[in-house]
Amino acid sequence: PSTVGCVDDPSTLGRWDARFLWHPWSASVPAEPRLMLVAGDGCDVVDVGGRRFLDARGGLFNATVGYGRSEVVKAIREQTAALMTYGLGAASTPPVVRLAAQLAELFGRPLTRTLFVNSGSEATEAAVKIARWYHALRGEPSRQVILSLADGYHGTTASAVAMTRLEATRSGVAPLPEGFVTVPTPRCVDCGRGSLHGDCVVPGPQTVEETIVRLGPGAVAAFMVEPVLGVGGIVPLPAGYLMAVRRICDEHGVLLIVDEVLTGFGRTGAWFAHQAAGVLPDLVTTAKGLAAGYVPLAAVTARQGVFDVFAADPVVGGLRHGHTTSGHAVAAAAALAVLQVIADNDLVAHAAEVGATLLGRLRADLGRVPGVREVRGHGLLIGVQLDSVVRAAAVTAACQRAGVLVRQQKEVVAVAPPLIVTSAQAARIADTLTQATTDTAETMS
Ligand code: PMP
Repeated sequence: PSTVGCVDDPSTLGRWDARFLWHPWSASVPAEPRLMLVAGDGCDVVDVGGRRFLDARGGLFNATVGYGRSEVVKAIREQTAALMTYGLGAASTPPVVRLAAQLAELFGRPLTRTLFVNSGSEATEAAVKIARWYHALRGEPSRQVILSLADGYHGTTASAVAMTRLEATRSGVAPLPEGFVTVPTPRCVDCGRGSLHGDCVVPGPQTVEETIVRLGPGAVAAFMVEPVLGVGGIVPLPAGYLMAVRRICDEHGVLLIVDEVLTGFGRTGAWFAHQAAGVLPDLVTTAKGLAAGYVPLAAVTARQGVFDVFAADPVVGGLRHGHTTSGHAVAAAAALAVLQVIADNDLVAHAAEVGATLLGRLRADLGRVPGVREVRGHGLLIGVQLDSVVRAAAVTAACQRAGVLVRQQKEVVAVAPPLIVTSAQAARIADTLTQATTDTAETMS
């Protein structure tokens, strides 16, 4: 390495970005030059030219405590200096132990056992294997099928891709692993009532039961589901849906895995969305808000009874799964600091309150704008459903020009600012999005 590692002039960085970097989930040659971000504080990020943006998408929905949070930076610095990490299994480190105990407290009994991994996708892979092992160790090795929602999203690793019907992730990578079956997604936008009711026209929890019965007794290992579909378009499950599938899973000996990668740690205005729904999962996966973007970290937290079964494993008498950096000490220290910031500043209640106001404003302001089909969400996870992908792309670009970053997901514009967003910043997000949607409606009509 010569001086390459020190180059900081914007035009060279731009050229090298185009030449050397392989961006995930992105066109090889993007239509617009990408932002080059160099700094962040609070809810703002700053580009290489010094322009400030209000980050109304919280990075990739993960920047829950915002940027440059001194408590988190300090925790990372101190743990890195003390001991960056040591591979778990043979030894433990204090931050990982503390974080596991902290999660047990937040989840509440019997969700007491946490396995740490590095990404949401890895959490999905681990949960799938744990579910199948659980049944095998209990003498039901035929329970292998993992059910999930057709429009769900659980990551980009092999099992996660096999688990849903999203064409963008599936096409061209066959053969995918076997043992995954999807059920139709309940989308209340097709009805408008927002909860289960007698004459539902959207496919409800009964489709889960019908599928379990169709596949036969002893075939299904688990049902995995997001409380609010994220990549699928910010689609909250109808009220009562999770509760109903919990009952169905219990009746048929099927584990319930709730994917809280996106919804966990306050994003929906509750510590966890399954708690707000009054449902106890067997396994919960978390990632994004756990370390709030400061470092990669994800987790699978299991019901104690699931963990207990693994003592009977014939090979190691426990879990045969993990990564070199599972339970990285620096990541755990960062997560502990993040959770402390959330608790000390009451950010969960704050997210519920500011989110409700923002949702109300967007509903009122966007309700009459042509091209807007629905505004929905929980807490600070809001989706504006438009009538086309082109319109959503135009609105997203217009917001960025006005200094507010939102996230386009097909025909949906997603809004998910850091949980520290102030009322004034939330008002600016609403104003900008309304203006962008109105302007786009005029140019597109
Ligand atoms: N589950 C959900 C609900 C997600 O939103 C995501 C990421 N968008 C994942 C899993 C996968 O996480 P990762 O990108 O960290 O692999």
